[in-house]
Amino acid sequence: MDIGIDLGTANTLLYVRGQGIVLNEPSVVAVKEGARHALAVGTEAKETIGRTPGSITAIRPLKDGVISDFEAAEEMIRHFVRKAVPGRRPRTRMVICVPSGVTQVERRAIVHASQRAGARAVHLVEEPMAAAIGAGLPVAEPRGSMIVDIGGGTSEVAVISLGGIVTSQSLRVGGDRLDAAITDYVRREHALLIGERTAEDVKVGIGSAWPVPGADDFEERTFTVRGREKVGGLPKTVELTVREVRGALDEPVEAIIAAVRTTLEECPPELSGDVMEHGIVLTGGGALLPGLDLRLASATGIPVFVADNPLDSVALGCGKCVEDFDGLERVMSAA
Ligand code: ADP
Ligand code: MG
Repeated sequence: MDIGIDLGTANTLLYVRGQGIVLNEPSVVAVKEGARHALAVGTEAKETIGRTPGSITAIRPLKDGVISDFEAAEEMIRHFVRKAVPGRRPRTRMVICVPSGVTQVERRAIVHASQRAGARAVHLVEEPMAAAIGAGLPVAEPRGSMIVDIGGGTSEVAVISLGGIVTSQSLRVGGDRLDAAITDYVRREHALLIGERTAEDVKVGIGSAWPVPGADDFEERTFTVRGREKVGGLPKTVELTVREVRGALDEPVEAIIAAVRTTLEECPPELSGDVMEHGIVLTGGGALLPGLDLRLASATGIPVFVADNPLDSVALGCGKCVEDFDGLERVMSAA
C-alpha cells in the first residue's frame, strides 16, 4: 500500500497507488477544550471556522507553512489516512510533501505522525519539486524549469534542473494573505467587519490581479458582502467592485512577483535562459486568481502558464513518486 500525501496549508490531498487522488479536504481540525480527540477534521471542521462557540477552536495545523499544532497535525494525518484507506493497510509506504519552510524538527514530527498513522517507510519530497513533477515539467533534464506554487499560507518559487532544486524562495504570502488584504480593505474603506470565509468568497468570486482581456462582463461584476458595522456593530451589506478588490489585492500580489524576480536574479544564467524560453508554470490554488499569469508575465517579460488543475499538481507529483518509487528515489529524501 503506497500513499502520497500533499500536506498543504489549506488543503490536504491523498493519492493511493493505482487509484489516483482519493481524498481532498481542508487542512482543518476542530477541537473542543479539554477533549482528547478532535471534534471534526477536514471539510466538516472547516465549516465551523468563524462559527464556533468559545469552547471549540478550528485549528489549521500548518497555517503559515510551519506546524503550529503537532497533535492536531498528527490527528489530521491519521484521520485522513483511515478515511481514504479503510481497513488494513499492510506495508504502507508514504510520500509526503510539506512546505519547504518547515524545520528539521517539524519534518521529524511529520515523519513520526505518519508512522503513528501506520506508515512503515516515509519519504519527504520538497513541495516545489512535487508541484513541478505534477505539472509535467521535465525535472530530470539538464534544463531550468521555474515553478511558482501559490498555496494558502505560503508560496514557493523554485528553479529546478537535473532532479534538484537549484534556487528557491518560500514566502509566507499566499491565499490567506489575499483574504486578509480584502478584510483589511473592507474594514478601512467601508467600515465593515467581515470574516475570513467571507473574504475568501469575495476573492474567489470577483478577485483578480490584472484586467482579463475579452472579459468585459467580469470587470462589471460586483459582490455583495454581509458583515458587521465597525461602529455600532449592526449587520450591514456592502457591494464591492472588481476594480476595488483588485486594488486591495495589490500588495500581496506584488510580494509574490518580487519573490519571482529575486529567484530569477539568483539563478545561474543558463538556467534563467531556459526559463525565458520555456516560461514559468503556476500551480496551487492561487494560480486560479484571474490575471495573475498576465501580470507576472508583464512584470518579468517571461511567458507564464497555469498548470492544468493547479490545485492537484502537488498531489499528482506525490502520486508520480508513489507510482514510481525507484525512478524518483533521487528527488525524495528517506526518513
Ligand atoms: P495549500 O497547498 O497551501 O493547501 P492550495 O494550493 O490548496 O493551498 O490553495 C488554497 C488557496 O487557493 C486558498 O487560499 C484558496 O482561497 C485559494 N483559491 C482556491 N480557488 C481559488 C480561485 N478560484 N481564485 C483565487 N484563489 C483561489
Ligand atoms: Mg500546496
